[in-house]
Amino acid sequence: MVENCIFCKIAKGEIPCNKIYEDNEYLAFLDINPVNKGHTLVIPKKHFRWVYDVPEQGKYWTIAQKISQEMVKKIPAMFVHAVTWGEEVHHAHIHLIPRYEDDGIIGFPDFKNKKTFSQEEMKEIAEQIGMKK
Ligand SMILES: [Zn+2]
Repeated sequence: MVENCIFCKIAKGEIPCNKIYEDNEYLAFLDINPVNKGHTLVIPKKHFRWVYDVPEQGKYWTIAQKISQEMVKKIPAMFVHAVTWGEEVHHAHIHLIPRYEDDGIIGFPDFKNKKTFSQEEMKEIAEQIGMKK
């Protein structure tokens, strides 16, 4: 756990999140500032700075893959972007950004252009995508 790391706090359950997936090592939850409906972050519970620092890439990306497939099936999304950027929060995270017809996103998703959903809507979206292990 790294002090003042918001994702470490979420991983430890000190800060609540709209959970999509959880196992012993990984957690996925809705981004509180989504660029699109269902925008999800997949993180290792252990603190790593970058996605490429996470030792078990196969396991990590398989979770991202499964969540993407659930998004296509359940929301349903037209397709899903997987983006690793890592400058906002310094704890490894894969962005999963579902895309829809006429969602107004053109080209690379604009991370400064956020969409707003009520707490109730966020809860519903999380339940819609939500996966049991
Ligand atoms: Zn952290």
